[in-house]
Amino acid sequence: MKEFELINRYFKGRGIIRRDVELGIGDDCALVSVPTGHQLAVTTDTLVSGVHFFEDIPPRALGHRVIAVNLSDLAAMGAEPTWISLGLTLPTADMEWLEAFTEGMHEIAEYYNVQVIGGDTTQGPLTITVCAKGIVPNGKALKRSSARVGDWIYVTGSLGDAGLAIEARKQELMLDPLHYKAALDKFHYPAPRVAAGQVLRGLATSAIDISDGLLADLQHILKASLVGAKIHVDKVPMSNALRASLDEAARLRLALSFGDDYELLFTVNDNNKNAVETRLKQYGVEPVCIGQITAHNGEVQLVNKGQPYQLSGQGFEHFS
Ligand code: ADP
Ligand code: MG
Repeated sequence: MKEFELINRYFKGRGIIRRDVELGIGDDCALVSVPTGHQLAVTTDTLVSGVHFFEDIPPRALGHRVIAVNLSDLAAMGAEPTWISLGLTLPTADMEWLEAFTEGMHEIAEYYNVQVIGGDTTQGPLTITVCAKGIVPNGKALKRSSARVGDWIYVTGSLGDAGLAIEARKQELMLDPLHYKAALDKFHYPAPRVAAGQVLRGLATSAIDISDGLLADLQHILKASLVGAKIHVDKVPMSNALRASLDEAARLRLALSFGDDYELLFTVNDNNKNAVETRLKQYGVEPVCIGQITAHNGEVQLVNKGQPYQLSGQGFEHFS
């Protein structure tokens, strides 16, 4: 199959059509309109075979995941996702693979009302780059730099399942098959917190999505905001699969430092604490308060049931 045939079959005319797209796939550039009073939020994430996913990942899951991780970045800024472009590098044009991959991709894009407006297709080792765009009212984006001393620290859902799935897949752990399936499903089909991000606009003081691990991503907020944090590790939410599979130290290691779960971490001041909880629950999100911002610049104090807690290991970093 030639490149243009592939584009026509799997991308052109597929997925949703937005009214703010004047020109989508088919020209040298797409043309879109940003509504008055809004800023364009832009983010890019790449997934490389063997680095970010196992080579035998179901292609439908890969299509979902590559969109989800990008929408998660938009959610963390409080942006509404609108458009996506896709850089696709494939070893071969395998039709069955492409069918499933694009199905997974279009499915999640459609769910979030996002249009695929362009991309690039090349031959080489399997690598997928997505550039996701969104819109956010002027000045309302959630940044990492505005957490203040005394703010409460929240997460939007349970952590550690992706780590559980990956360690089990590498045969570093033996899991009950049902727990393995539950964890693997969460790794393959993460649900970006798109609605939560928009709810948090104007309520949260800062936000980030947890891609590299709770503690690693928390550090980004602390550094940008010049503050510290106290985290009650016994409050960190975990799934039944994780609780049933590992002892406390092992599950805390995954929940605090593994990453790949794509929940949001955010801070909120005392005045807005109740409003945040109520509004998020209206959107089916159960936020969990896990700690508080302190004045100890860059320092994270871990507490487990009232006692100081030590944890070894950090989040994932390339080139480390
Ligand atoms: P050009 O050579 O001008 O960059 P291409 O031939 O690469 O254009 O692509 C033709 C059209 O198809 C463009 O509109 C481009 O955005 C789109 N396109 C190419 N690959 C993809 C892809 N993987 N997903 C979505 N759109 C794509
Ligand atoms: Mg061109």
